Amino acid sequence: MTSDQKSNWSIEQSASLYGINDWGAGYFGLSDNGEMTAIATQSGQPVQLSLMDIVAGLEQRGHAMPVLLRIENLLDERISLLNKSFAAAINEFDYQGEYRGVFPIKVNQQCHVIEEITKFGGQYHHGLEAGSKAELIIAMSHLRDSEACIICNGYKDAEFVELGLYARKLGLKCFFVIETPSELSIILEQSRRLGVEPLIGVRVKLAAEVEGHWFGDGGDRSLFGLSITQLMDVVDQLRDAEMLHCLELMHYHIGSQIPNIRNIRDGLQEACRYYVDLVKEGAPLGYIDLGGGLAVDYTGARTNETHSKNYSIEEYCVDIVETITESLNSSGTPHPTIITESGRATVAYSSVLLFNILDVSHFKPRPLPDQLPEQSNDFLHNLWAVLHSLSEDSVQECYNDAAHYREEVRRMFRQDQLELRELALAEDMYLEILQRTRELLPSLKRVPPELQNLDEALADIYYGNFSLFQSLPDAWAIDQIFPVMPIHRLDERPENKAVIGDLTCDSDGKLDLFANADGDVRTLPLHDLRPGEEYYLGVFLVGAYQETLGDLHNLFGDTHVASVRIDDDGQFEFVEEIQGDTIGDVLSYVEYNPKELYEQLRITAEASVKSGRITAVERRQMLQTFSNSLNGYTYFERD
Ligand SMILES: *Cc1c(COP(=O)(O)O)cnc(C)c1O
Repeated sequence: MTSDQKSNWSIEQSASLYGINDWGAGYFGLSDNGEMTAIATQSGQPVQLSLMDIVAGLEQRGHAMPVLLRIENLLDERISLLNKSFAAAINEFDYQGEYRGVFPIKVNQQCHVIEEITKFGGQYHHGLEAGSKAELIIAMSHLRDSEACIICNGYKDAEFVELGLYARKLGLKCFFVIETPSELSIILEQSRRLGVEPLIGVRVKLAAEVEGHWFGDGGDRSLFGLSITQLMDVVDQLRDAEMLHCLELMHYHIGSQIPNIRNIRDGLQEACRYYVDLVKEGAPLGYIDLGGGLAVDYTGARTNETHSKNYSIEEYCVDIVETITESLNSSGTPHPTIITESGRATVAYSSVLLFNILDVSHFKPRPLPDQLPEQSNDFLHNLWAVLHSLSEDSVQECYNDAAHYREEVRRMFRQDQLELRELALAEDMYLEILQRTRELLPSLKRVPPELQNLDEALADIYYGNFSLFQSLPDAWAIDQIFPVMPIHRLDERPENKAVIGDLTCDSDGKLDLFANADGDVRTLPLHDLRPGEEYYLGVFLVGAYQETLGDLHNLFGDTHVASVRIDDDGQFEFVEEIQGDTIGDVLSYVEYNPKELYEQLRITAEASVKSGRITAVERRQMLQTFSNSLNGYTYFERD
């Protein structure tokens, strides 16, 4: 690299360009040598670990990119932050109840994640939320603490209920949240049969609606929860069955990733009205469960836009405790235990997708000649003239002319009046005009509308060694923005504007929405590749929802997963390494049998030996490569 690239650029400029201090929430930073770091707090002190050291460690251990990295310390810190913030708010408002968090298993079901949450969360009696029998089985076998809650949401059949009642019998605080009226009879029947009193909750459907992706979860038409008439019906049935004393919890969930604190307050206020009147109805209650919704600021903008949030965790906790206190005190209703089911905000920060760049397509012309060949077509001369008259004052006119002449050149080519070499020269001039136009845009007072997308249209395409569909499904399905950036060379100016393509041959397999601090959301600043050197990027905040929603598009499988723990001295240890899918694995997911595939190829190859098409030695080589491939990684592998 030239010293110029470094002397004109500082890591502070990179930090601000990529917005690390905005979205990183203090968990990510930069080292003096331009590498991205993860920051863990050890005995009150920040300890930094370079992500490049982790990449080197992974490669030394034979794990090729892409790798999903989990940083255990960050998961622990999020659980602590949530619990400590609630404790502080409870203290501040002299609130008489407690806080009990539960982690919704659906947000990241991976065994190692659940183990860490229950192990580290034990000191706070952090529990689990289960939405299916499979998740309840996870919860029952991981929790031993009689103070921690298991919240059962979702449709429950008799077996689901039976499992939950056994959890009760084992001393676990397992609640059935009634989502539909028909569930109640199943619960009452099973509990009579097994002689176990259930802990019952009701999920109420609030009228309050929220902004953001998941606005469908709230409101009258929400799929889940009891309407007011259904709720009264459930209360009456419980009373008739002399089981109203089992109704100990009220639950609602108005959506995930709620960017505006106002919506959270409004929903809770309405919920408190339900709470107070359910107590008047004779239900003991004692627990209020606000569901999920605590947002992650993916863009770092601190606004109420979809991918952001306009509040901190501390503020979230204070607002909740304050709202409940105010709403309940006037009627003298005792303060309940507060439960939240925060998933996204708990796990998002702890995972990073790491991958290398394989290639770049630049939309740059080849060097132009000093002079046009004399006999060139008139339109080429016209383009040449446009190129040399381009200035701030003539941007719009030059752009119009260039587009027109280029169209004419293409027409002539189609009509056999111009040769391929001339067409190529015209394209080069056209690209040069666009590139120079782009450089002029920042100095224009007003950018003409048709030129506003020029950056995007001319952006380089960096090809990344990953599958968007496997590793970042929400980026595809709901245009989720995740912070993306290089994890090294951050002491050099990134000279290119880029979008990122993945390995699938799908035109949707690209990252082209970013959260840059400079407001350009369509391209990402990246460095030139250096020959013989890898260029690594990270996609951050991917710990929530991405792993099991991913699919096998083009048969790219699970990536390797590595969990690290950062020690006091900034050293780290790989506490868990999971090998990604092999090609044989993904083929068997779609019902192929790798052994049979091998046998089929062996028969074809043997026939070829017999007919003299290949030699026996060539057969051996082919079958060896085939077999190595079946056992190898589904992603791009360097030799
Ligand atoms: C999905 C879901 C959650 C998790 O929501 P986050 O916004 O990720 O915290 C919690 N509770 C219920 C009922 C859910 O469906």
